[in-house]
Amino acid sequence: MRARGQDEAGARSREEQQAFAKHCRAHGLSVTQQRLAIFAALAGSRAHPSAEQLHALVRRRYPSISLATIYKNLEALRAIGAVSDVNPLHAQGRYEASLAGTGAGAPHHHLVCTECHAVHDLPLSLLPPPALRDESALGFEVRCVRVQVEGICPNCQRAA
Ligand SMILES: [Zn+2]
Ligand SMILES: [Zn+2]
Repeated sequence: MRARGQDEAGARSREEQQAFAKHCRAHGLSVTQQRLAIFAALAGSRAHPSAEQLHALVRRRYPSISLATIYKNLEALRAIGAVSDVNPLHAQGRYEASLAGTGAGAPHHHLVCTECHAVHDLPLSLLPPPALRDESALGFEVRCVRVQVEGICPNCQRAA
């Protein structure tokens, strides 16, 4: 008998896959097994992995998938808003699932450790997004406002 937690996690990931497939089709992108696997790996992780780390995860099921394929898919998924790239400070881009209800489940800010480059989610409930007045946007048509809090994570503080 499977534990209840596993059933819930399974149901959640099935819902995520369905939402993802629907989003892809609505944006004219075909839903391939590899694409599903890449999204599932991202949605199942809160570590904001790099393309290389994602490649290592997805290869467990698709041993022949190339890093170039991972990059191509990430770019296609980023273009339709299913994946978002998480910032600078990193030489390599870092990614996360960004459909409502997947990954962190909702828009959020990030706390980034300047030592180990770990990225943690910071919910908007703990830090309401800054309201940007029209005159502050300097003529930009604002699509989103992201806050990145930089500092030393608890692990790195302990190691110091
Ligand atoms: Zn750290
Ligand atoms: Zn995040």
